[in-house]
Amino acid sequence: MPETPDAAATGPRLVLATRNAGKLRELRELLRGQVPGLDVDTQVIDAETAGAPDVVESGTTFEANSLLKAREVAAATGLVAVADDSGLAVDVLGGAPGIFSARWSGRHGDDGANLSLLLAQLADIPAAQRGASFVCAAALAFPDGTAHATFGELKGSLLAAPRGSGGFGYDPILKPLGSDLSCAEMTSEEKNSISHRAKAFAALLPHLVDALR
Ligand code: IMP
Repeated sequence: MPETPDAAATGPRLVLATRNAGKLRELRELLRGQVPGLDVDTQVIDAETAGAPDVVESGTTFEANSLLKAREVAAATGLVAVADDSGLAVDVLGGAPGIFSARWSGRHGDDGANLSLLLAQLADIPAAQRGASFVCAAALAFPDGTAHATFGELKGSLLAAPRGSGGFGYDPILKPLGSDLSCAEMTSEEKNSISHRAKAFAALLPHLVDALR
């Protein structure tokens, strides 16, 4: 006979420090079937559902921001928390836009303006010098502040003009190494199988499984 689950075992157990429904879906799929007894659809929730406050991204690196978000949300909710922080790092710009990727043009989240500004800045840079990577730091934190952070990268080069209509952000101008397609010309399955985020979360998975066991 299975034991009757108690309230602690059936309530939320993991909170993702995001209000982005797509990211929550991805985390649930990554964890599905990995932790015995964990119901990913009801026990893995987003920050809004958990009642966590918005976290100001005041760190100066991807890792610092992911740790900051995971630690604040874990402390506010009393649950294990996961966060990520990602962006585009352009070789010839010394890693910029980097942590400023979402607000490069001055308006947070204006993907079109961010991409246009970057293309204009790089207009005279030849193809051989247009190396760039998507990078992602992912972090897992406990309410007591203990935390782990991991890193993932998708290396490629920047096109001279946008190509494709899928994805978001800088996807239309990043062509991964070894691919003929921009990230925006790939299916979401193709992109997710090689992405910086998938790599960072895959590296975090053993810590997550340990934390929720
Ligand atoms: P965030 O980590 O979701 O805040 O993403 C920061 C910014 O980095 C986004 O607004 C995008 O501009 C850029 N970015 C991060 N990951 C990707 C990606 O997979 N494709 C395109 N742009 C990305």
